[in-house]
Amino acid sequence: MSTPVPQTVQACLAALADLLGPAGVISEAEAQAPYLMEARGNAVSTPLALLRPGTVEEVAAVVRLTAAAGIALVPQGGNTGLVGGALAAAGTVLLNLGRLNRIREVDALDHTMTVEAGVILATVQQAANDVDLMFPLSLGAEGSCTIGGNLSTNAGGILTLRYGNARAQVLGLEVVLPDGQIWNGLRRLRKDNTGYDLKHLFLGAEGTLGIITAATLSLVPRPRQMETALVAVPDVTAALRLLKRLRQASGDAVSAFEIMPRFAIDGAARYLGEHNDPLSEPSPWYILTELTAGTPGDALRETVEGALAEALEAGEATDATLAASGDQRQKLWRLREGLPEIGRKVGGALHHDVAVPVSRVPQFIERANRAVADLCPGARPYPFGHLGDGNIHYNIARPDSDDPADRAAFLALGPRIMRAVHDVVLDLDGSISAEHGIGSKKRDELARARSPLEITLMAELKRVLDPRDLMNPGKILP
Ligand code: FAD
Repeated sequence: MSTPVPQTVQACLAALADLLGPAGVISEAEAQAPYLMEARGNAVSTPLALLRPGTVEEVAAVVRLTAAAGIALVPQGGNTGLVGGALAAAGTVLLNLGRLNRIREVDALDHTMTVEAGVILATVQQAANDVDLMFPLSLGAEGSCTIGGNLSTNAGGILTLRYGNARAQVLGLEVVLPDGQIWNGLRRLRKDNTGYDLKHLFLGAEGTLGIITAATLSLVPRPRQMETALVAVPDVTAALRLLKRLRQASGDAVSAFEIMPRFAIDGAARYLGEHNDPLSEPSPWYILTELTAGTPGDALRETVEGALAEALEAGEATDATLAASGDQRQKLWRLREGLPEIGRKVGGALHHDVAVPVSRVPQFIERANRAVADLCPGARPYPFGHLGDGNIHYNIARPDSDDPADRAAFLALGPRIMRAVHDVVLDLDGSISAEHGIGSKKRDELARARSPLEITLMAELKRVLDPRDLMNPGKILP
């Protein structure tokens, strides 16, 4: 028997249905499913209702109605988050922002674009491209994640090394506060030191302080030259030397610098049936790097070729190939983008999204590998990711065995393995969440990563803005 819904809650749900109409209330189980299942398929939301308001005024009205009834809200964008931040527990209302999908203004002279929270990241990129500009945020989920989710998680991705993370791309925000007020902070100023910069409170807050409904984003000129190279490197330290060389040789034109282990190539062949090995000899590690320049011509290619020749000479690289066409570029990127898919195919992989100072990545990988081998000798770590900014996705495939008992034993060790990996990260002055956030998944680890003073300050900020804990409760803070 299901729990009876209190009358105030029932009255609130009826008022919400009146307010939003059929387009704004999703009640069919089949239509609800994509909003309820978490991105990796590990958890399911069980909200009282799933709402999709179409305007900022509707969002504000929903907040006021639910607050009056004491019902908590869980904001949601594209539902691609990887830490359970958009999971809605029983008794809460899931508020999907996908219908707030208008591009309000593009100003090519100001290099700005004002968009609503539900606009898909790829749509923002395309709109910038249409006026010969670029929005420099790019990540694997860009075809389905939303700008509101990107800003609420302060997303990173492959361009952070050059342009910074999502926070760095924002000039202004519009936010519905937990009491239903609309804060219009959609300024488009490059300089503004009039008191506290309030937008930064909401960026990376994972929906715990308010609902981002729109943002004014900063755009940059579109590059005219792009070079993409796959480079075989003997070890991670050599890769860092290569990064330094490329940055210096090109006038800091490296926009992406991703590391992958051999598992990217072997795993693609074995688990995805994709035979894509662009270099002649196997190597333990590969770098996928991209450099861009603002002027047309061959200068960048010549620079990259020269720097790679020097790197081969210096033993920083053992082989390299430069993409000669758009197709080849895509084929190289496929190696990197296939890694999350391989993880899903292997099944039951453990994931860690961590960062350490760039110079310490080699030490981190070596020590984490040892810690994992001590706990589970057959486990197969395959660290990969954004080496250029120190962010490694330290993922671990289960032992190579078909025995379900081995798989269960590996998964049972998951919490201990995570703790051991995070121990190494913290010992190296790193972060246990580089770009995905804390959500519900890493909440219990937060106290190890931040000092008691920092946690107290965060909790006090939360109390000031959301004294009744109605905005995404149970996320980030205990
Ligand atoms: P959701 O998953 O819907 O929500 C994420 C969090 O933001 C939740 O806490 C939610 O409550 C909150 N939220 C959403 N919208 C709002 C809003 N309008 N106002 C307030 N709070 C809101 N992340 C990276 O940083 N870098 C990567 O390279 C990367 N690669 C990925 C690759 C794949 C294949 C996948 C599946 C995910 C990847 N992610 C990556 C994680 C994810 O895509 C990002 O966290 C993304 O920013 C989430 O956006 P979303 O719209 O899907 O947000």
